[in-house]
Amino acid sequence: MLKNKTALVTGSTSGIGLGIAKALARQGANIMLNGFGDVEGAKAEVAALGVKVSYHGADMSKPAEIEAMMAAAAAEFGRVDVLVNNAGIQHVAPVEAFPVDRWDAIIAINLSSAFHATRLALPAMQAAGWGRVINVASVHGLVGSAQKSAYVAAKHGIVGFTKVVALENATSGVTCNAICPGWVLTPLVQKQVDAKAAAANISNEEAKRQLLAEKEPSLQFTTPEELGELAVFFCSPAANNIRGVSWQMDGGWTAQ
Ligand code: NAD
Repeated sequence: MLKNKTALVTGSTSGIGLGIAKALARQGANIMLNGFGDVEGAKAEVAALGVKVSYHGADMSKPAEIEAMMAAAAAEFGRVDVLVNNAGIQHVAPVEAFPVDRWDAIIAINLSSAFHATRLALPAMQAAGWGRVINVASVHGLVGSAQKSAYVAAKHGIVGFTKVVALENATSGVTCNAICPGWVLTPLVQKQVDAKAAAANISNEEAKRQLLAEKEPSLQFTTPEELGELAVFFCSPAANNIRGVSWQMDGGWTAQ
C-alpha cells in the first residue's frame, strides 16, 4: 500500500516509534528513522523488511536540527509522504517541585517538535496532493494524571494542533490525526514500573499489575505492533476522510 512512499518517524529507535516504522515498512514505505540509543539495531530491524532505511540523529528539542533532518529526508527521498511525530519523554513530579528544565524539554520534544516537523513537511505533501501526518499523543492528551503536568500539557497541546492541521488541509488529500495510547510497555513506561516497584518494595510484575489496575480496565498493555497497525489504517484509502481525530487505544482508560 505504501510502496514508493517515504515515512519519517521521529523517536523511532525504540518503543512505539520503532513499532510504527516497522508496520509502515511492511506496507512497502521507505523509512527515515530518528532518535537516540541503539540506532544500528533499529536500522537492521527495519531493513530486514526489505525497504530502504535511513537515519537522522536530530535532537527533536532543537528546531535547527529538525530543519536539517527534514532537508536530509527531502534530499534523499524526494519528500516525506507520511510524517509520524512520535518522539517523547516523561518526567514525574508535582507542579511546585517540577524542574524547570524538564518542563522546557518536555514541551520542546513532545509538542514543539511536531510543529516544526509538520510545518516543514506540509508544503511537499500539499504539492503532491497526498500526505499523512500522524501525531502520537496519549490518553494524557484527553485526561490528566497527577505529577505529569508538562506531559499532560504537551499532549493536550498536540491534540489541539492535530485538529488545526487537519482543518487547514481539509479539502486536500493531506490528513492529520492523533493516536492516544494508554499504557505501552516501552522503556518510557518501564522506568515508571521500576520507580513504583522500588517505592513500594514490590516485584516488577506486581508493579506492572498495579499500574494497569489503577487506570486501564483491560489490565493489558497496548503493544507497539497494535499501534503500528492503527498508523497503517490512517494511511489507507479507507481513512481518506478521517480528519483531526484523536483515537484512543487505551484498554478503556478514557471510557471511564
Ligand atoms: P521510548 O522511550 O521507547 O521511545 C522514545 C523515542 O524518542 C526513542 O527513540 C528516543 O531515542 C526518542 N527521543 C527521546 N528524546 C529525543 C530527542 N530529544 N530527540 C530525538 N529523539 C528523542 O518511549 P515510547 O513509550 O515508545 O514513547 C513514544 C511516544 O509515545 C512518546 O511521544 C510518548 O509520549 C508516547 N506514549 C507512550 C505511552 C506508553 O505507555 N509508553 C503511552 C502514550 C503515549
